[in-house]
Amino acid sequence: MPGSPSYRVVVIGAGFGGIGMGIALRRAGIDDFVIVDKCDGPGGTWRDNTYPGAACDVPAHLYSFSFRPGRWSGRFPPQREILAYLCDLAEENGLDPHLRPGSGVTACRFDEGRARWDVTLADGSTIQAGAVVSAVGQLNRPALPDIAGRGDFTGPSWHSARWDHGTGLAGLRVAVVGTGASAIQFVPEVAKTAAHVDVYQRTPPYVLPKTDRRYGGAEQSFYDRFPVVRKADRLRIFLYGELLTSGFVLSPKLLAGPMQLWRRQLNSQIADPALRAKCVPDYVMGCKRVLFSNDWYPALARPNVDLVTEPIERIAADGMVTADGITRHADAIIYGTGFQTLDFLAPMAVTGLRGRRLDQTWHEGAEAYLGISVAGFPNFFMLYGPNTNLGGNSILYMLEGQIRYVAAALRALESEGLGWIDVRPEVQQAFSTWVSASSRTSVWESGCHNWYTTDSGRNTNNWPDHTFLYRHRVRRFDLGRYRAMPKPPVPAGVGRA
Ligand SMILES: Cc1cc2nc3c(=O)[nH]c(=O)nc-3n(C[C@H](O)[C@H](O)[C@H](O)COP(=O)(O)OP(=O)(O)OC[C@H]3O[C@@H](n4cnc5c(N)ncnc54)[C@H](O)[C@@H]3O)c2cc1C
Repeated sequence: MPGSPSYRVVVIGAGFGGIGMGIALRRAGIDDFVIVDKCDGPGGTWRDNTYPGAACDVPAHLYSFSFRPGRWSGRFPPQREILAYLCDLAEENGLDPHLRPGSGVTACRFDEGRARWDVTLADGSTIQAGAVVSAVGQLNRPALPDIAGRGDFTGPSWHSARWDHGTGLAGLRVAVVGTGASAIQFVPEVAKTAAHVDVYQRTPPYVLPKTDRRYGGAEQSFYDRFPVVRKADRLRIFLYGELLTSGFVLSPKLLAGPMQLWRRQLNSQIADPALRAKCVPDYVMGCKRVLFSNDWYPALARPNVDLVTEPIERIAADGMVTADGITRHADAIIYGTGFQTLDFLAPMAVTGLRGRRLDQTWHEGAEAYLGISVAGFPNFFMLYGPNTNLGGNSILYMLEGQIRYVAAALRALESEGLGWIDVRPEVQQAFSTWVSASSRTSVWESGCHNWYTTDSGRNTNNWPDHTFLYRHRVRRFDLGRYRAMPKPPVPAGVGRA
């Protein structure tokens, strides 16, 4: 709206994507931007997920920006170190004055006449921008299960991404719903002090050994002194990830090695054949996210932990009732049930050319050219958008490629004197056709229930090829793939914002 604060770029989200974008903007000499976030500070995933045992599962030498290595306490540092790394990055790069926390975006509307986006915040105020970069991630809206009676439970309950640190679990009977990436990190920690833990499992995950170890001071100094060694480790981790990816996108037969590792770990860590049988997945490795842990199976084998595979029928005031009619008492319930991943960008209402709504455009599932641009939504770019999640490598590798691409697009807008650019529909269509064809033969569309596919089984979240090929595709911004419109004339007597 005319009169509201105006920026060249509004970045939505202050996680790795938003912070990385801010750094790239500053390096490109663009200072006229703001990074808004609905929460109270930077960090995204690493601000929200404070559960015991929270850590990355891609080694931090790769799960960090290539241009700024971290000084990590170990191969898989805990959440607080990753959060501190992100906050340091923001400070070192002078981003703090650009950050505007507590500013959830509810709507973005493009005004073709002014070639500007009007961005509406939760408090009703509006800011204007020449371009919008959405960096809202794929994993920040917790998903709670639709189980009858969930509201009837009288004890404390919470989602793993909203951990209630005020409620101690020592000596309590705890019910954990879900056995995904977060649960396998917090259950071993909770089980150490809880009186009893019932873990409710719908489908078992494949759990591979985690090559975790601490870095001593001497080793950290060694990495600092010889950065090439850290880079070599980065490359090694990347190549291992690409090897896993080969199995996911070319043929599961290539996963014979990881399958052997998984089976050996399961057999050596769980002696009870009945419990072991409950831990054997009935789907192809990779269809659901492959997990890494050395203490998941030992935790399940503890005398104070039960793995319950009977479906939950309902939640009662004091516990869980399973389909076999058994009620298991619980003092607290923790939902390790993941995130709402399919309705990208929700709940923001994004309106592009001729009043077109993005959620309606995506009614059969999200899609975007390179996961970044959608035809009909000019000067609107996404980081970690549709089909850019990974099953076997570091998201930061994807984000770095996207950030560079978007920075180049913004530079092109300026250097070519353009009002807006909009990806050509035929370019997006050709890309989407390729994504669909490649996804069809990937493990993600092999029939299991996972968070990457829509109800109709279409993969909208994962990149369906090797990761390096994504970076190859985004290596340069090609203006020819976009419709380009000149800047609208400035009305007499009005300065250009
Ligand atoms: C527990 C956990 C562990 C993970 N471990 C790994 C790992 O080891 N390796 C890996 O590659 N990936 C991992 N991931 C995936 C992780 O999400 C990405 O690696 C990365 O952190 C994504 O960064 P992002 O900035 O794109 O999104 P996020 O970190 O999710 O940040 C998005 C930001 O946008 C803000 N936001 C959202 N909507 C709005 C709105 N409407 N208005 C304003 N602000 C908004 C949010 O508050 C948030 O701060 C993990 C995810 C989780 C949940």
